[in-house]
Amino acid sequence: MLFVAERTFPSSKVCSKRGHYYGELRLWERVWECPVCKSVHDRDKNAAKNLRGYSAALIKGVG
Ligand SMILES: [Zn+2]
Repeated sequence: MLFVAERTFPSSKVCSKRGHYYGELRLWERVWECPVCKSVHDRDKNAAKNLRGYSAALIKGVG
């Protein structure tokens, strides 16, 4: 399945823990702290977690 979620879903900018949106994320930030729940996220791992959750939601028809 070809996945183009990156265009519609800002996976690296969303807190994988609680779904908070961090629009201030810059390209050079490899690690960031969620401004709301203070969770610290590794950019790539966070994005991967979000995409997993996002694809699961799509499959269930929730997203
Ligand atoms: Zn958060």
